[in-house]
Amino acid sequence: MSTIFTKIIQKEIPADIVYEDDEILAFRDISPQAPEHILVIPKKEIPTVNDIEDADAILVGKLFLTAKKIAKELAFDEKGYRLVMNCNEDGGQTVNHIHMHILAGRQLSWPPG
Ligand code: AMP
Repeated sequence: MSTIFTKIIQKEIPADIVYEDDEILAFRDISPQAPEHILVIPKKEIPTVNDIEDADAILVGKLFLTAKKIAKELAFDEKGYRLVMNCNEDGGQTVNHIHMHILAGRQLSWPPG
């Protein structure tokens, strides 16, 4: 089932887009948990990490490569950042369209609460 992220992909609702190509979109999180909080998503609708298939391997790899590119462009690559993908209820997933959170700009605690 489509989510709000499909509406962002289709430009039906606005987002602060920081990167876009044919397969990937990245935009700022509406409720940032760090000075830099960006979501990197595939345009393909994949609800959860559990739904990733072998054929998606390159696409999922591109999420990492896009995160790396954004980190460099926004100049927090050397200082550091965290990549997170939440899955289902215990993981804290609230939007069922896989997305990689990029969190940066402050010291992040570990382990997560
Ligand atoms: P998760 O809880 O891992 O599923 O992450 C979903 C994220 O999407 C949350 O951090 C939300 O703040 C973010 N989010 C929800 N709606 C929007 C929106 N319209 N634009 C940008 N970010 C959103």
